[in-house]
Amino acid sequence: IVFLHLNVISWPITDFILLLFSLKAFVTLATTDSYSKGAVVVAKSLRRHGTTRSIVVMVTPNVSNTSRAVLSEVFDEVIVVDLLDSEDFLRLSLLGRPDLGVTFTKIHCWTLVHYSKCVFLDADTLVLSNVDALFEREEFSAAPDPGWPDCFNSGVFVFRPSLHTHAQLVQHANQHGSFDGGDQGLLNSFFSSWAVEDLSKHLPFVYNLSASTVYSYLPAFKQFGHKAKIVHFLGSTKPWNSSADSSSQTMGRYVDMWWTEYHSHTTSSASSASSSSSAP
Ligand code: UDP
Ligand code: MN
Repeated sequence: IVFLHLNVISWPITDFILLLFSLKAFVTLATTDSYSKGAVVVAKSLRRHGTTRSIVVMVTPNVSNTSRAVLSEVFDEVIVVDLLDSEDFLRLSLLGRPDLGVTFTKIHCWTLVHYSKCVFLDADTLVLSNVDALFEREEFSAAPDPGWPDCFNSGVFVFRPSLHTHAQLVQHANQHGSFDGGDQGLLNSFFSSWAVEDLSKHLPFVYNLSASTVYSYLPAFKQFGHKAKIVHFLGSTKPWNSSADSSSQTMGRYVDMWWTEYHSHTTSSASSASSSSSAP
């Protein structure tokens, strides 16, 4: 009887605590053991810069137990989600990335409704400073894509988990697919007002700095590159498949930093987050 009674009262208290702290989290995704390596660096680099938020990784069932064990050392939560694949080989070949159909899995991040607001980071990003200020932004905030700036790049975005939005996204994916075969095309047509509405939802480019930008506008990189907050290793060559000296000089430095983070001992989840200080 006592047990039952406690159970009954514990639910409102849990709800209350959740509301009180209005939990917020960084979220990333790994559908393979390779991308899990990237995810580890996302978590380590967030912790190095003293985030006060939770850090969550979504994995698909095929990710090995070894990888999951490594992930659970640096993430607060490892959540298993179903693999979602656009199987849109035609559009993906136009994009030159036949491997990106599985990025549809990303939209499962809207199911994390035990958080009130989240920041999604691709597994191929590296955090260079504290970016907790991103939680002051609203859904849907993202930075312009360097290839087509009227589209946002879906490697870094702010969103509000909601089962309603998730269902709408799944429906949109089933009805319309994605114009690039991956999550970025889907999200850009779903949040199509991003380009023309509300500049506060346009994240500064330093929150999603990609290598292609460095190549196409080097003077801007020289001027503003030191302000980079998140580097995105967009494209088919990922840091875990390359060594620093095989990359260009400019990006090579970031690949170096990625490997340093990968081998660093910034481990343990919630405990290390609360004890490390915040670096601006
Ligand atoms: N991803 C994954 N497995 C894959 C491909 C992609 O887990 O086989 C996830 C991962 O989080 C990755 C994101 O989807 O960062 C987007 O893919 P990617 O970064 O390769 O795309 P790009 O940024 O190069 O366009
Ligand atoms: Mn990416």
